[in-house]
Amino acid sequence: MIFHGFCLHANATRTRVRAGVVLAGFLLASAGCGSKPRLARCQWFTMGTIAAVQAQPMEEAQRARDLIQPVFLHINTLFSTWQEQTELSSINGAAGSGKPAELSPELQTVLGSALALARESDGAFNPLVGSLLAVWGFANEGAVPAPPSQEALLAAQRLADWRIIQFNPEATPPTLYLPRAGMKLDLGAIAKGYAVDVAYDKLTAAGFTNILIDLGGNLRAMGEAAPGRGGWRTGIRNPFVEGDCAAQFLLTHGEAVATSGNYERFVDIGGVRYAHIIDARTGQPVTGMAGVTVIAPSAMLADALSTTLFILGPEKGRDLLTHYPGCEAIWIPDTPEELTLLCTPALAKRLTKISRKPLNIKLL
Ligand code: AMP
Ligand code: MG
Repeated sequence: MIFHGFCLHANATRTRVRAGVVLAGFLLASAGCGSKPRLARCQWFTMGTIAAVQAQPMEEAQRARDLIQPVFLHINTLFSTWQEQTELSSINGAAGSGKPAELSPELQTVLGSALALARESDGAFNPLVGSLLAVWGFANEGAVPAPPSQEALLAAQRLADWRIIQFNPEATPPTLYLPRAGMKLDLGAIAKGYAVDVAYDKLTAAGFTNILIDLGGNLRAMGEAAPGRGGWRTGIRNPFVEGDCAAQFLLTHGEAVATSGNYERFVDIGGVRYAHIIDARTGQPVTGMAGVTVIAPSAMLADALSTTLFILGPEKGRDLLTHYPGCEAIWIPDTPEELTLLCTPALAKRLTKISRKPLNIKLL
């Protein structure tokens, strides 16, 4: 079997990162099938991570890449918080200034979904987590020598109050205002999924029927990898063993999948590893979970939900999922001595075990 889709997490160059396959569409069809046409993969660096398309033949993959490269570039000019000239950076820069910003349709869509999920998850998903990312050393400011003081944490939490964001989607044009100086929107948990959906729609409009899009481990499938396959065979990485795939399943037409993990992006403070997903309600990076994978009808939802369910854990996460039809999830607790997959029942039925290591699959 061949793994495709090496994934470096967003902003990889700024933080200590272990590269590895997070989640890969991998296809038996591509592994030396004699006269069968080979699946081609085109990949490039964008939005701080690796983007890839798989299709056959090669010209088709290249045509798709040429169409969606500018899409990802454009979305990055809106959503990146690592560059000063982006729409999001200028909104953050205007926090507390008294001047609401006019919103692009793209930002309006993503922010609307982000705030809806913040409400639905009771603040587990928090688009204003930027101030907390900064005090923990995940933002442009770089690594910090020690965990933040209680005072710094409280100040950052006060700036993460998403309920007071002034978002006015009905206005013409729609506007947004962050009322406290220092508030920082961060849409890193949802923007890549959104970008994949925009790319998916563009490829559909251009007549593509069988293609897999991957942006840093956010995948969306169209059609099938080869005639008769019924979809795209996709692997879930064993977070504890580089190169080992815990299980696999078939991603079918229109479905998306995303993984949030603690092994991709983290900071090391005094020998303790802190993951980049922060529960703003406590101010603390989430511990105890190694990875969460979500299948959803759109890549934006898969992306946003994987981060949210990572924070909520399996019990509360399963309750939240009842509000999202067509969404399924797997939690992998951070127990390297025992690889366990906690699965929603419909997804458990779709899994094939392939790990070389002992594996427990438990239903939720
Ligand atoms: P993902 O890899 O999709 O799970 O996204 C992780 C990214 O989401 C982090 O690098 C932060 O930019 C952002 N993030 C961290 N904590 C939260 C949170 N509680 N709510 C929303 N976004 C978050
Ligand atoms: Mg996410």
